[in-house]
Amino acid sequence: MLIAAIELGLRQRTPSMCQIPTYLTQVATGLEKGLSIGVDLGGTNLRVCSVELHGDSTSDILHTQVRIPPELMVAKASHDLFSFIARQIQDFLVKFHLAFIQDAKSDAHDQYFALGFTFSFPVYQSAINSGVLLNWTKGFDIPDTINQDVCQLLQREIDLLELPVRVTALVNDAAGTIISRAYGLPLSRTRPTIGAIFGTGTNGVYLESLSEITKTIDGDYDRSTGKMFMSTEWGSFDNKLSVLPVTPYDTELNEHSVNPGNQMFEKRVSGMFLGELLRLAVLQVYYDDGLGLFRDDTGKSNTDDFNRGAPLHTRWKVDSSILSVAEADNSELLPALREKIHVSFGVPRDSVSVRDAQVVKIIAHAIGTRAARLAGMAVGSVIVQSQLLDETHHVAAGLEATRETIVDVAVDGSVVEHYPGFEQYMRESLRALEQIGVEKESRISIGHAKDGSSVGAAIIALLAAEQVVPNST
Ligand code: BGC
Ligand code: MG
Repeated sequence: MLIAAIELGLRQRTPSMCQIPTYLTQVATGLEKGLSIGVDLGGTNLRVCSVELHGDSTSDILHTQVRIPPELMVAKASHDLFSFIARQIQDFLVKFHLAFIQDAKSDAHDQYFALGFTFSFPVYQSAINSGVLLNWTKGFDIPDTINQDVCQLLQREIDLLELPVRVTALVNDAAGTIISRAYGLPLSRTRPTIGAIFGTGTNGVYLESLSEITKTIDGDYDRSTGKMFMSTEWGSFDNKLSVLPVTPYDTELNEHSVNPGNQMFEKRVSGMFLGELLRLAVLQVYYDDGLGLFRDDTGKSNTDDFNRGAPLHTRWKVDSSILSVAEADNSELLPALREKIHVSFGVPRDSVSVRDAQVVKIIAHAIGTRAARLAGMAVGSVIVQSQLLDETHHVAAGLEATRETIVDVAVDGSVVEHYPGFEQYMRESLRALEQIGVEKESRISIGHAKDGSSVGAAIIALLAAEQVVPNST
């Protein structure tokens, strides 16, 4: 069904899994050279970096990172968020590239930094440097940004600060991750053609043949490779819940989210939601007297034993890191998990028994492995769709069809990075897919590109700067 959704999005503008053209038609070679800026507005952090590519798959990277203030995620006006981003760019440039700014000001030449803007939300692109926001995800909700061109919004704020910076590329984080991994790989290695994010949110981008994309792609782009990276937006797969598993916790989480009925796949897979699912499930056990979770030494019923404002009792207050601790702690007495339960749930230390921790561990494992298996299913579907494991296809493309790695998947995000065994559980799914199976699964390599999206954006900006007339005023 996911494969059918992938295909449908290539034919028409669909409301979900909308297959956004990225205007990226090839992967980095490692030979690129130059200096540019990347800005990554993710779900949790804002990262600014400059990347100097040396043309030999090495680079120098400088970066800063701040947590996005929660009030800006639900700001009244776009200006609040975008002016914040522009000020972070300014601070970054003053810190690391002051001479460049001063030169640009005094110099009559038109000197500027090319900037790649990773905006990790569904933005329907109409060029490499423009696209309108379809809807917010991951807890963001600023109504007046919908249908606006996010590159223009950022450029306007940059211009107000008179910074020598031009937004030359709009990038999805999964696309940035591919390009960043591709640049840094040894020249002899197979380039990644699929990128997947399992972080605060989730998405997959993959290289598709132009001949398969029958819906209209606006504007100009390089057709010489016969390919374009497409952003699946698989976070919105099966919003109607025909095939996804549904528990009472999924239902309750969805009802209390800022986007009920949307991003239903994401709500089972990504970091923004796993902690809340765990909280809801544990809370149900906690209220079930028969099981007596989190009692103190006297064994008394404990409904009022700790603060009602504790994270266990508060929506969205438990982040997904507790699932990783639960999965990692395999000791008999579970000391790390018990401490984490105390810190993350706000349960007093002496009310967390070994048995309580065992219960939490079982639930966390169920949620975590469900997420990883669904993740594997999504990656597998994209691999099948792209026909990349099809050897004849590869020979035709001029790549060697060996029994070595043929498909390389670049991944990033807090969940895939920190949840122990996430990749192994994903691989179970890949093997279970009929069209992949055990033999072909072993030819898939999965590589982590840490913070790849900001670095990738800078690389794409550089490539795009040569092709695009910047829309600066
Ligand atoms: C967004 C995608 C993004 C993903 C990972 C999702 O919520 O819709 O555009 O790539 O999160 O950050
Ligand atoms: Mg990110």
